[in-house]
Amino acid sequence: LYADFTKATGIRINRIEAGDEQLIERLKSAGAATPADVLLIVDAALLWQAQQLGLFQPVKSAVLDERIPAKYRDPDGNWFGFSYRARVIVYNKAMVDRADVASYEALAAPKNRGRICSRSGSHPYNLSLLGSQIAHLGLPGAEAWAKGVVANFARAPKGGDTDQIKAVAAGECAIAITNSYYYARLMRSAQPADREVVAKTALVFPDQNGVGTHVNVSGAGVMKHAPNRQHAIRFLEYLASYDAQRYFADGNNEWPVVASVKIANPALEALGTFKIDP
Ligand code: FE
Repeated sequence: LYADFTKATGIRINRIEAGDEQLIERLKSAGAATPADVLLIVDAALLWQAQQLGLFQPVKSAVLDERIPAKYRDPDGNWFGFSYRARVIVYNKAMVDRADVASYEALAAPKNRGRICSRSGSHPYNLSLLGSQIAHLGLPGAEAWAKGVVANFARAPKGGDTDQIKAVAAGECAIAITNSYYYARLMRSAQPADREVVAKTALVFPDQNGVGTHVNVSGAGVMKHAPNRQHAIRFLEYLASYDAQRYFADGNNEWPVVASVKIANPALEALGTFKIDP
C-alpha cells in the first residue's frame, strides 16, 4: 500500500505502527512538535476522539469529496473513511436458530439467555454499536437494550472478537458479536482449526428487515501541524484510488468505500451484499 504510493509519486513514507489509542495518546502529548502528517486509525469513535483533541486540520479535496460517499467522512473534512466493516452476529449452527439472531434487538431477548459472548463493552467497537442504538432508540431504550444483552452473557467479557467466534465454535457460548473482517479472515485461513470454526458457525447481518446493519470505518486525517500538508493530502487521495481501494478489500477484508471498485476477495464475495444502517 505504501510502496505503491512512493512508486507513483516519489514521496517517501515514514510510518509508526501501534495501537490506535496508543497513537492518539502519543500525538496528544507531542502537540505541535510531532513530525506526523497523517493519522490512519480504525473506528469513527476514535477518529472523532482525535478530532475532538484537535489533532486534525480540515481538508478540502475535490477528489476525496467525489470518491468517498458523504456518510463515510467528516462533513468538515477532518477525517475520511477509506474502508468499512460491519458489526455482525456469528452463531453456532447446532445451538441456535438463525431466526433467533436476526437483529441487534434479539441479542437482548430472553430467548437468548446465557448464550452471548462479547469483548468488553468499553471497547470502541461496542461503544460505536451502542451509539447507533442510542441514535435509534434514545438513551433509555439503548440502556434497556444494553442491560438485556449483558443479562444474556454466557461469560464475563474477555479477549477480542476472534476469541468470541472461537468460543462460539467450541460451544462455550452460542452467539458472538464481532466485526466482519475477523470472520472473513477465518474464512480465508488455510489452518484446519480455523476451517473447523467456520464450518460450525454462520454469520448474520443484523436488521436486514429493519434499519440495516451497523457499519464503521477505517479512516485517516491530515494532522493539524503536518509539515508536509500537500503530500499528506495526496496520500489521502491515493487511498481513495482504485488500486489502494482494492488493497483494502484484499488485505484488510473490509469493503472499499468507493462503490465502483470491484472486489476480488472470496470471503467478501461469499458474504454478499447487505443493507447498511445509514
Ligand atoms: Fe479490529
